[in-house]
Amino acid sequence: MRQEILSRAYDAIGEHTPMLHDCGALCRAACCRPDADGQGGVHLFPGEKALLTDCAWGRIVPDAFAPMLVCEGMCQRDARPLGCRIFPLTPVRGKNGKWTVRMDARARAMCPLAAHGLSGLDPAFPRAVRDALRIVAEDPEGDAFLEKWAALEAQYRQPLW
Ligand code: SF4
Ligand code: SF4
Repeated sequence: MRQEILSRAYDAIGEHTPMLHDCGALCRAACCRPDADGQGGVHLFPGEKALLTDCAWGRIVPDAFAPMLVCEGMCQRDARPLGCRIFPLTPVRGKNGKWTVRMDARARAMCPLAAHGLSGLDPAFPRAVRDALRIVAEDPEGDAFLEKWAALEAQYRQPLW
């Protein structure tokens, strides 16, 4: 995906975060903590691997879905990947065919905001994330990746039996 697209998506989110205050204080930044076994990470959008290859605070590991950034819970904030910037939201294709957002089913396991839905967030945050995703979708590779991301997330909505 073109770097210009990624830059514009990052800018669309800017300093917006899920809450007006630091929501990490609610959960000791649960979404940034590695798993007990040191695993876990965030999938990178197309083009992000090149931006993060030399970063000192994380490493990129291969994954069947997409390359994944694994960090120790501290990062250079303005370099964090899009997957971190949009969490706990995830893309979903609206009835009008445009990308919008919903709470990521995977957030339920760790994020205290997940149970409250979009109405529990600073309203500017979902708007900014939606705008960023629509910028990503301007690039065909970005649009295809959003489809893939949404399909993966949808698997976590399936009943377990
Ligand atoms: S887990 Fe949720 S509440 Fe905690 S820092 Fe991440 S987004 Fe904020
Ligand atoms: S890159 Fe930054 S925002 Fe993303 S999980 Fe690591 S510490 Fe958290």
